[in-house]
Amino acid sequence: MSILVYIENVEGALKKSTFESLSYAKAVADLTGETATALSIGRVSQDELNKVGQYGIEKVIEVDNNDLEKFVNQAYASVIADVAKSMGATTVILSNSFSGKGLAPRVAAKLGAALADGAIALPTISGVTWQIQKTVFSNKAIATEELHEQKKVIALTPNSFEAKEAAVAVTIEKYEPQLAPNDLSTVIKEIVRATDKVSLPEASIVVSAGRGLKGPENWAMIEELADVLGAATACSKPVSDAGWRPHAEHVGQTGLAVSPNLYIAIGISGAIQHLAGVSASKTIVVINKDPEAPFFKVADYGIVGDAFEIVPQLIEAFKAY
Ligand code: FAD
Repeated sequence: MSILVYIENVEGALKKSTFESLSYAKAVADLTGETATALSIGRVSQDELNKVGQYGIEKVIEVDNNDLEKFVNQAYASVIADVAKSMGATTVILSNSFSGKGLAPRVAAKLGAALADGAIALPTISGVTWQIQKTVFSNKAIATEELHEQKKVIALTPNSFEAKEAAVAVTIEKYEPQLAPNDLSTVIKEIVRATDKVSLPEASIVVSAGRGLKGPENWAMIEELADVLGAATACSKPVSDAGWRPHAEHVGQTGLAVSPNLYIAIGISGAIQHLAGVSASKTIVVINKDPEAPFFKVADYGIVGDAFEIVPQLIEAFKAY
């Protein structure tokens, strides 16, 4: 029995959420006493594949096939299920990313496995029964799900499990997939990026703003600060509810969970529901004119002052740097 963890790449580079899935798979393997093996599909360099060792996984199965250069939901699901069967894997772990959300149920159906999508914590294991916490109702609540099947597919919510480094040497083994014609019935020919902006779940720096900004017309300085730092922009819930910013930027208990290296919170009070989605950030900087704002309690650095004076000064300082 073993664990298979699918590692996603974007244009040949492993995604941040992949490192979280690898660490999660290693932690599950430590709990069950099994070994975890990574599976890469698509064109990924050896240097990238070797990064798997930095998260404690010793073996990568590499599927590098011309038909699979671009993501094809059905075909990728078939390959993941075939590899899992061939190595006798009873647990398949992947990220609950955009593509993972399409893959996880397909892989579970092909394997006859129980599925936990949106997992946010390690399972509690009692024989064949595993209990797993997952987010439900668009992240508005947390449910505990019991998986009773021997085979399990777990899709891990990005940013819910910290990637922990544990360097080991990696061996890479090639696998030639047997694809059925209907696996390739729909193929993506081209992906054109709609935006050059840094993606929020993957960003290592996030500039986030709240109701203290007074209105949507004041976001130019937030975007400029984010541009200067190479950061993604985010916001508090009332800001997206009011339509000042898109819902995709809303972070917190009912929005996205992020864990960047640096989270800059501007004009955000620091309500517990907001902190639920950002407290895994490595360094938190808070800018708020109210010295009693709760956000200061969890901040690594705090600036008490008016955002409309401080943010332009920060932009100038970073530009000059
Ligand atoms: P406010 O609470 O209005 O705070 C504005 C802050 O800006 C204040 O601290 C003020 O001192 C400061 N400020 C004002 N002017 C300036 C200035 N010129 N310069 C600097 N600072 C200034 N919220 C989320 O964000 N994410 C969630 O996922 C979320 N989920 C929720 C789920 C539930 C079930 C509930 C009940 C609430 C949820 N909320 C969530 C809402 C949350 O409770 C807060 O109401 C919200 O986070 C407050 O947003 P805010 O900090 O932008 O606004």
